[in-house]
Amino acid sequence: MTADLLRPDVALDAFNTLRLPARAAWFAAVESADQLRAVLDDARVAGLPRFVLGGGSNLVLAGDFAGLVLHVAFRGRARVQEDADAFYIRAGGGENWHDFVRWTLEMGWPGLENLSLIPGTVGAAPVQNIGAYGIEMAEHFYSLRAYDLATGKTVGFDKADCRFGYRDSFFKQQGAGRYLIAAVTFRLPKRWVPRMGYADVARELEAGGIATPTPLQLSDAVIAIRRRKLPDPAEIGNAGSFFKNPVVSAADYARLAAAHPGLPHYPQADGSHKLAAGWLIEQAGWKGRRLGPVGCYERQALVLVNHGGACGADVRAASAAVRADVRARFGVDLEPEPVFIGG
Ligand code: NAP
Repeated sequence: MTADLLRPDVALDAFNTLRLPARAAWFAAVESADQLRAVLDDARVAGLPRFVLGGGSNLVLAGDFAGLVLHVAFRGRARVQEDADAFYIRAGGGENWHDFVRWTLEMGWPGLENLSLIPGTVGAAPVQNIGAYGIEMAEHFYSLRAYDLATGKTVGFDKADCRFGYRDSFFKQQGAGRYLIAAVTFRLPKRWVPRMGYADVARELEAGGIATPTPLQLSDAVIAIRRRKLPDPAEIGNAGSFFKNPVVSAADYARLAAAHPGLPHYPQADGSHKLAAGWLIEQAGWKGRRLGPVGCYERQALVLVNHGGACGADVRAASAAVRADVRARFGVDLEPEPVFIGG
């Protein structure tokens, strides 16, 4: 059975949105628990390192991978439960995130509209706790089912188990590399309140003459903004925002604000301040600038793009150069958002 599933020496170029060239010693696209078990039991990959691949949109392939790449292809989406307050919607880990979001809206289950057009899969969404325009996935997360690659067992995770943080979760920390997320269930409250706090969203709706948007109109607005500001991975290789927004102490913020008037900042509940990484990068002179085949996108400096022919080392070099310049100018260390694999 695994003869068809398990493929040796597979090019991963088409499986990462930065379009970096890399090869996997072994590759299998798995659609079910039975397929996954069959692949993991195959003697040819016994003892090899494993890597779980979703949409490849938050990934830097820094070199070839001398192990087994498991491409998550679990499908299916359904309403699994409903109570007085909410709908509970489950989707397979391999479902495309944006298609899933639009489907929930068309079915009349709003809540995820601000997360429209984020590249990647449903299974990858909890790993990174994807967020945009004032909503984080964690807000609407209910539970997930994952395969523990170390024990071969199926494990259920509730929200507390996932330890969600800002673009962070258990699956990026202690659980990194150990689990394959097969299905995720979301809890979408029946009482819906549009989230229009981000300036771009408010402007877009105003320009369209929309004062009280429907969920689909809000989704359309987010799609329009993203299309304008962000490079389409189908046209130019990129992995979305390349750096996390740094969060600094009140004292550090005061020092920075005195030296850099106009520094955008967003006060957090704990007294710290979130800074806009894109602004810091732009001020450091990197908007639209290139280092070899990799550069900061001309319309959004936070996104590193592959102008063609880049390899993992080129991305590492550009990332290091941007970080060094931001550190030199602001004394702030930027942390890359994507996961680095291989090399
Ligand atoms: P933006 O509107 O230019 O704002 C720059 C940064 O300031 C954002 O990263 C955002 O932080 C923060 N910000 C803006 N308005 C805010 C508010 N009202 N309250 C709190 N924080 C605010 O951002 P952008 O680059 O065009 O991105 C728009 C949204 O899409 C952001 O939420 C961004 O995170 C998300 N996005 C994520 C990715 C990714 O790959 N992870 C890629 C593209 C866009 P937050 O990031 O905390 O929201």
